[in-house]
Amino acid sequence: MTVDEKRKLELKTMYQIIGIYCHNKHHTPKGQLCEACEQVWEYAEHRIDACPHMESKTFCSVCKTHCYAPNYREKIREIMRYGGPRMLLVSPIQVIRHMYLEWKDKKRG
Ligand SMILES: [Zn+2]
Repeated sequence: MTVDEKRKLELKTMYQIIGIYCHNKHHTPKGQLCEACEQVWEYAEHRIDACPHMESKTFCSVCKTHCYAPNYREKIREIMRYGGPRMLLVSPIQVIRHMYLEWKDKKRG
């Protein structure tokens, strides 16, 4: 997997998780984000785009450099905790791939 592919997968996964969270918690229509979640997404998108560790590390969830500001970090953690397991129902192969890459990375590190 190239760095570019990794970045795209991370972005896609993150967007879907925020989407699930927003749809269930804030009752926004599927495929849309409320204003608050849109802000979190834009922030995460920017961080992923700017991440200097994409090349050597796998995903932001396992990265030791916490580049998210504390208030966003808390929010994103909550969203991941909520949406992560639900992603399994929507897109199991993508989640398993993501988890496998995380596991591989943890083992190596
Ligand atoms: Zn929302």
